[in-house]
Amino acid sequence: MAVSKSDKNSPHSAPSAAPTDLSAEELQRYARHLILPEVGVEGQRTLKRGRVLIVGVGGLGSPAALYLAAAGIGTLGLVDFDVVEYSNLQRQVLHGTSAVGKPKLASAAARLRDVNPHVALIHHEAHLTSENALDILSGYDVVLDGSDNFPTRYLVNDACALLGKPDVYGSIFRFDGQASVFWAARGPCYRCLYREPPPPELVPSCAEGGVLGVLPGIVGSVQALEAIKLLLGEGETLVGRLLLFDAMRLRFREMTLEKDPGCPLCGSHPTIRTLIDYEAFCGLAPTAASVAAEHELEVRPRALREEVGAGKRIQLVDVREPFEWEICHIPGSVLIPLATLPGRVAELDRSAPVVAICHTGVRSLDAARFLRSRGFVGARSLHGGVARWADEVDPSMARY
Ligand SMILES: [Zn+2]
Repeated sequence: MAVSKSDKNSPHSAPSAAPTDLSAEELQRYARHLILPEVGVEGQRTLKRGRVLIVGVGGLGSPAALYLAAAGIGTLGLVDFDVVEYSNLQRQVLHGTSAVGKPKLASAAARLRDVNPHVALIHHEAHLTSENALDILSGYDVVLDGSDNFPTRYLVNDACALLGKPDVYGSIFRFDGQASVFWAARGPCYRCLYREPPPPELVPSCAEGGVLGVLPGIVGSVQALEAIKLLLGEGETLVGRLLLFDAMRLRFREMTLEKDPGCPLCGSHPTIRTLIDYEAFCGLAPTAASVAAEHELEVRPRALREEVGAGKRIQLVDVREPFEWEICHIPGSVLIPLATLPGRVAELDRSAPVVAICHTGVRSLDAARFLRSRGFVGARSLHGGVARWADEVDPSMARY
């Protein structure tokens, strides 16, 4: 979506009363911005008027806060209640060894003040909850979600939608990252993409699954970039697009996201009109049905072979890229690369079960969840992908 510089595309709720004149020192500091026609003195003043809330000053929030402060965002709100631990330092570059044991907000503030003393820092040393979220978020133009858990992600999404503010989303796990801008007033929200969170037992944290140190630097920087573009009203933001980053293959892909008319939050007949209990929603006490449903999201290779062998009509949808398909594929499958899936769901038969297939079973899980959100009730993902299919079912299949 192209965003022009006109007021209607700016998230600024009201003109700020804060002085936005730039001092001689600031004119030097921002010199490389001022010579860009898309920023200039006016744009720099806009950034100075801008208020960005960063939820979590960890892996994603660290690079985001550093770049936003350096770029001259006038007011940065920081939400966090953790203390710095040694295990944070491998990726949370806002914090140094001397800050271990200290609150992350204090550590962040010390560093950010040095980066740019012109930035007003507002500390929200709290756990973001349904009780305080609307209050906290309402004071900002743009919210940057650097959280690492589903309850906070849904809470930020819902609060932003209710307040009409853009939610700059990022997430990371192991070697993979995602980013988007969820802005219900202009496009889809997080619930349009994932209506329901996965049950917690299927959500390994970075503490359990690991994360490569550089990855949050890339995704958090993308989030900072999007926040700046939103404030400036310049460029084409990630509204309506999900950016997928695969660090191991160094590949960026994107999925077009459409607003779901049935979205309970931003659809045509919304049922969510206020913040809910997100811990309960995200299944810290999951129902037996939700656990069963998510477990059934995957089918193992041998079980799939038996279903196909028994003559069951199953649509095998391979969501890899064409060059991967050339290397090998399961007979009878159709190729619909993941990025094209949203635009091609009409090609699938809703009356027959769908199994999504990819290389190792990660992209296909996204595809299965996406298809379920589009009404393909029993959509599943081939566990382990063609790699495991080759191991367990068809040893003659080429591998890569
Ligand atoms: Zn929505």
